[in-house]
Parts: sequence; structure tokens; C-alpha cells
Amino acid sequence: MAKKIRIGIVGCGGMGGGHAIAIQSGTGNAIWNGNNAQVPGFDSPATTDISKLLELAGIMDIKPERQQWARERGMKVYETYQDMLDDPTVDAILVATPNHLHKEESIQAMRAGKHVLCEKPVMLSSDELLEVMAVSRETGKVFYPRQNREWDEDFLIVKKIYEEKLVGNVFNIKCKIMGSRGIPGDWRGVKAYGGGMMLDWGVHIIDRIVKMVPEKITKIYCDLSYITNPECDDGIQVTLTFESGLRVNLEVGTCHFVNEPLWCVYGDMGSAEILNWKLEGRMVRLTSWDEKDTTPILAGAGLTKTMAPREHGKSVEELPLPRFEFDHNALYRNFAETCTGDAEQIVTQEHALRVLRVMEACFKSYETGETVKFEA
Ligand code: NAD
Repeated sequence: MAKKIRIGIVGCGGMGGGHAIAIQSGTGNAIWNGNNAQVPGFDSPATTDISKLLELAGIMDIKPERQQWARERGMKVYETYQDMLDDPTVDAILVATPNHLHKEESIQAMRAGKHVLCEKPVMLSSDELLEVMAVSRETGKVFYPRQNREWDEDFLIVKKIYEEKLVGNVFNIKCKIMGSRGIPGDWRGVKAYGGGMMLDWGVHIIDRIVKMVPEKITKIYCDLSYITNPECDDGIQVTLTFESGLRVNLEVGTCHFVNEPLWCVYGDMGSAEILNWKLEGRMVRLTSWDEKDTTPILAGAGLTKTMAPREHGKSVEELPLPRFEFDHNALYRNFAETCTGDAEQIVTQEHALRVLRVMEACFKSYETGETVKFEA
């Protein structure tokens, strides 16, 4: 059996604390509800036992209350980041600090001979990531972007529908992540710390689509909102157009008290929707294009046949969404196995670079008010 990777966590807040519990307990599943407990209901038989792969060396955080939190759980607390880097028993660093610190901490870690697992957004810009990639090459250390949401079940459902053409050839996908609480009142609302929803949720939803569609993006349009925070974007609306004409609309909103479906997938033989995080939804599939005797419906003061909904059983059928057993710990496992040389990196540096470039094109589109040409 390959050696366990001993990992030190820098930044032990919401996410870092979740990682610390996940790795210390060996169960993985870095789901933490902010009150020191794991959120129940996330177990899946497919989940890897990471206790054979990773071991918690300790944490480092500048806040005394987070140090205390870790001590109460029997975790080693390093006084300084340098102390953690100087510890020869530490193989890898998990960077879970606010976004503006990721670059320096990653570079320092690799130069100290440690592999790096870095929280998303891995960097604030593609130029920063290019610098970090150069250090990874130079030192021979793994730099692994923690873009973890390609293993989420909602996305796996959409991927299956898209790849297996369960609603025919897909021409439009919409993903809308909506909440009503504005930007969290921490560093996420401050530009200098890498705040804003594009860098927070935008990275996740762009990451997954860019990975799923094996085509070049040709055009990018983006609008941002500043409803609850004048400094950082609290909402994003992005349209990506791919070579084949596939159009993807991505939205993040934080001032929405009613939600639109999480996902809609439109194909030339049907449509699918995932309504919410509970994964309620359905596929509606065409059985014959023509429907005889269409009854018009009232639309305002007029009638319409064109927009009259199809009758189930007549020309369309309704099907349940495909479901999956999925591995919450797939990224931890792949990171550990990449460090030991037993696997190839699934979330590659080049992929993270492409995602950052898409986000930069989004900002450019917002600033100019124009659609940006993109050929990658
Ligand atoms: P947080 O504010 O809850 O935690 C950040 C912690 O870093 C705090 O405890 C703070 O004291 C500490 N810190 C700040 N400066 C430090 C320094 N110089 N050295 C050591 N510690 C320092 O934020 P969070 O929600 O945990 O987010 C942290 C990172 O995790 C961000 O990059 C965020 O984007 C990412 N994140 C990823 C996911 C995901 O699904 N992949 C989810 C949430 C957060």
C-alpha cells in the first residue's frame, strides 16, 4: 500500500475546518455546517474511505478562536505557516485561506518541498496561475486545483442527459444557483480579498460546463449585479456559446426570494429539469412531433396553439431523472494518488487555467458591455 499523505491545512475556517474534520475522521466528505458538525444525509456507498490515503498533520490559522477550535478536537496547531512548512513529516498543504492568499501560500509550500491542494478559485487571475504552474514544474510538486463539483450528483445527471442524448441533441443548458442572503459578510464582500460571486460560485458552474462540453467556446457574454454590495458582484449572468451553437446560460443570484430551476436542459427530442438541490425534477420526451387536434389555450386576451403545453401520453412521455451513487471523496483520493504517483491528476492545472480565462473574458464582457470572442 502506498504511503499515506500527511497534510497540513492553512486557513481553518468554514472550509478548512470541514477539511480538517473530514481528514481527521477519515470519512472525508468535507461538509460542515458552521456549528462544528457534519451535515447529515451525504453518505453514499460509492464514497472512498480516505483514512488509508490521507492523514491530518495539523492546521494553521491566524484567528485564536480557530486555533482553539482545532485544539479542542485534538488537532495539532502550528504557530506559524513557516512552522508547518518546516515540519519534515508534512507531505502536502491544503490551502483554504481567503482567495488573495492562495498564490503566495502555494508557491511557498512547493518551494518548501510540499505538494499543494488549493481551494477554488485557485488564483485571482490566469497570470497568477501561470506563475504557480511554473513553480510546480520547477519543483516537481503537485499543484492540484480543488474544483470539486464535477462529482456532484446534480451535475452527473445533467452530464448523462447531455452525453447520452436522453432528450436528443442538446441546444441549450441553463444552470441557476439562487439564494436570498447577499454575499456572506466576510472577506467575500471585499474585492482585494478576491470577493464576489464570480470567484465564489461562478468558478464552480463554469468549471463543470467547460469540462463537460468537448468543444471550443466561441462567444462569451456576461452581466454582473451589485444589488447588495457596491464593491463586489453579488450576481452573475453568463452566456457561453460553443462551436456547435450550443448555448449555456449560467446564473448566480443572491437576492432571489423565489428560485428558478437549478438546471434546465433542452434538446431537440425533449427537455429535462432539476428543480432544486433535493434533485426533484423530470425529463419530458417527445414520442411524436405532431399532435393532432391541439386545443388552444388562453394567453392573456388571446389564444395560442403554438404555446399550448403538450399532453402527456399523447405526444410526450414523462420520465424520472437518472440517479447516481457517487463518490464525495473522489477528489481527495485523486489528489493523494497523484502525490504518490499512482494516478493522473483529474482536475488539471490546464483545465483550471481555461476556467480562469473564461472568467476573465466574463469580466471583460461586463466592462465593455459587449460579447467577447473566445477561441479556446
Ligand atoms: P473562512 O473565512 O470561513 O475561512 C478562512 C480562514 O482563513 C479563517 O479562519 C481565517 O482566520 C483564515 N486566515 C486568514 N488569513 C490567514 C493567514 N494569513 N494564514 C492562516 N489563516 C488565515 O472562508 P472559507 O469559506 O473557509 O473559504 C476559504 C477558501 O475555501 C476560499 O478560497 C473559498 O473559495 C474556498 N471554499 C471552497 C468551497 C468548495 O466547495 N470548494 C466551499 C467553500 C469555500
